[in-house]
Parts: sequence; structure tokens; C-alpha cells
Amino acid sequence: MTESSAPQAQREVVHGWTRVSEHAYTRPLEGWKANVGVVVGKQRALLVDTGAGPEQAQRLLGLVRNLTDLPLVVVNTHAHFDHVYGNAFFADSEAGGAQEIWGHEAAAAWIREHGESQRTEVADLEPQFASAEGSHAQILAPTRTIGSAPQDLDLGGVTATLFHLGRGHTDGDLLVGVDNVVFAGDLVEQGADPAFEGSWPRDWVTALRKLSALRDLYPVVVPGHGEVVGMDVVDDMRATMGQAVRVATTAVQQAATDATKAVPILPYGPEQARALIRRLRATG
Ligand SMILES: [Zn+2]
Repeated sequence: MTESSAPQAQREVVHGWTRVSEHAYTRPLEGWKANVGVVVGKQRALLVDTGAGPEQAQRLLGLVRNLTDLPLVVVNTHAHFDHVYGNAFFADSEAGGAQEIWGHEAAAAWIREHGESQRTEVADLEPQFASAEGSHAQILAPTRTIGSAPQDLDLGGVTATLFHLGRGHTDGDLLVGVDNVVFAGDLVEQGADPAFEGSWPRDWVTALRKLSALRDLYPVVVPGHGEVVGMDVVDDMRATMGQAVRVATTAVQQAATDATKAVPILPYGPEQARALIRRLRATG
């Protein structure tokens, strides 16, 4: 994937956070390097994603407090563990103190039904939490949800807009637009293949096209993982994925039993190429 040009240039770094607009900051967390975000208003601050467990969440709160002492509201970009397992910590009035945790309704439903299924993924970073022990061991779904209609959050003098562009990386991807920046969650990946497990590949291509159409509003894109980019990277990702979906769809149709023959000609590593084929089959 190509490096972005203009939006990459000379960003201010504040207490280890990269400032991406007048009110918005981002930084990667340790472990899976998920990019979290903070949007600072006059009355409250918005935290985008909560980390992979309560210990990481506690460290994250310390990092947030280097930027702002304002009360927090939280949003989850999607249901995957490295973005939501800190929810219980942030929801605790004695800890993060967030009164609201926003997410897409499909993400909330997935966390309630399947959130436990990813707990062992974090064993190295969060051994206690992985064993469902210690404080804030609960896997908490968003407490406030949206569907297809966007939701504005007034932070005092600055408004963040939560919106859904259809199914993609998951069926509950939420984006956060503020100033000239959009936090895209894992709908956009920089420096790595898109993660197709659990995804809706055909819809994902469409969602990337819709995102790209917002380039005048949001020329700066914070991906779920990797460097801050411009919409040119979203365009590259969409073109590559569109091509991959076409090739893999043909392979699935022509070789009902062994479409994995297409793995070497797909523009991704073998693991994600296989996941793409699996998901094309599963999602019809
Ligand atoms: Zn993800």
C-alpha cells in the first residue's frame, strides 16, 4: 500500500499523542497497535476505542489524562477485542467514569453474544482478564447504540459525528468524523492486509467507496491500525479489494470444492487470502 503524501506532513505531537486536527488526537496502543483517538471539546472528551483489557485501559486513561481532565464519553469502532475489552474499566465511575459507551447496534449484539469468544486472544497482555479474573473482567457491550442513522455527539463547541457505511470489516463498523478527520476503525488498515475474518468483503468494497466520497469533508483518515493516511490510501485499498473480490468470486464459482487454488494470485498474504475466500462463501 502506498504512503500518503500531504496529510502525513508535520503533525504536532502532544504528550505522545499525534494531533490530527484542531480537536482530535491519536496514538497506537501496545500489543495489536490499535489506534485509539481522543476528541477534546469544552465540556467533554470523546475516547475512540478502549484497548484490549482493563490493564491496558488503565494505562490508556493515564495517557488521556495527559490531554484533558474533562468527563469522557466513549465510542467503539467495532466489536473486536483490541478495541472494546477496556469498556468495563472506562464505564466504572471509580475508574474511567464514562457515562456513555456508543457503538453500532450490531457490534453491541455481537459483543453480548460472542464477546467471550475472543477472551483468550489477550492472554499475553492481559493474563488476569483472559482468565476472567481481577477487576473490570466483564466484557461490556456499548450502552448506547446507533443503526443506519448518524448520531451527533455535542462535546461542547465541537461535534463528533458517529456514522455507519454498511457492513464491511464487521457488520457493526462505526466511523467517527470530527473537524477534517475521520476515525475509520479497521474498515481501513495501513501497512497490513485487511482482516477478512468475520467480514463482508463485497459490502466492504462498497463501504470504502462511500468513505472515499467523503474526501472533501474528511481528507484525513485515522485507520484502525497503522499510520494516519489520506483518502488516496482508501482508494488504493478499495481498488485492490475490488479486484481481489472479483478474482476470488470467480475462483469460488469455478472450483466449488477447492477455491484455495486462487490464494497465490490474490493480492494478499495467504492467511487473509484464505479468509477472504471463506467469507465470500459464507456471505453468498
Ligand atoms: Zn477488527
